[in-house]
Amino acid sequence: MSGEASPNLDAALIYAHRGWPVIPIHSVQDGHCSCGRAACSSIGKHPRTAHGLKDATVEEAQIQDWWRLWPDANVGIVTGNQSGLVVLDIDPRNGGADSLTDLQGRNGALPKTIQSLTGGGGHHFFFQHPGGIVKSKPIVKGVDVKADGGYVVAPPSTHGSGERYRWNSLRNPDDVVLAALPVWLRAQLIQRVESLPKPSTGTFPGKIHQGQRNKTLARIAGAMRRHGADEATILQSLKAHNRQHCDPPLSE
Ligand SMILES: [Zn+2]
Repeated sequence: MSGEASPNLDAALIYAHRGWPVIPIHSVQDGHCSCGRAACSSIGKHPRTAHGLKDATVEEAQIQDWWRLWPDANVGIVTGNQSGLVVLDIDPRNGGADSLTDLQGRNGALPKTIQSLTGGGGHHFFFQHPGGIVKSKPIVKGVDVKADGGYVVAPPSTHGSGERYRWNSLRNPDDVVLAALPVWLRAQLIQRVESLPKPSTGTFPGKIHQGQRNKTLARIAGAMRRHGADEATILQSLKAHNRQHCDPPLSE
């Protein structure tokens, strides 16, 4: 085994040096998952180690040990606060491509950032974690956010389709800067993660009238802060609420 080249090990070490904790993931051979279960529902996508994500590390010795044990293990990168990454996962088989077109049509194009192609026709867009808590969850049809508590399978892992994951050649991590999470997406994630508090007066989400405006916006800000939103996200959200719900809007 020693001396045998493992492109997956090389990649895992590069990611670790970048500060992205990695875990070994089951691999795919002839369409079968290395876990050996005929009915595996997550072929080549689930962790190989006993404690899964909790085992993630940037320590070279541990990474060497894992890939000595399983030279063809796929590479998982942990998302969320641990790595500073939020990944937008587009799955075209579930309508993700259309959803992405729709999202960009309403909010503007995603900024240039690191991007990988899954072996199954999907895309992973990598962004800076904004701080606080961003939960991993679906946001619209075929579009998932991978953040705290999540991970992504990374190049050059093998996909169930037989293809390998790869970096978009014009969007690879060596050449492209990790973009900030777009503001509209941050705002949406915070709202999705913790639905915004409703005031006891029952006037929200309708109009917020003079005399209630400051108090209501302060209550929203307080709740977002408690849930870990950063100031920029809070400000953005308050401005949107002010414009949409305050009658008349407070001056910004
Ligand atoms: Zn499996």
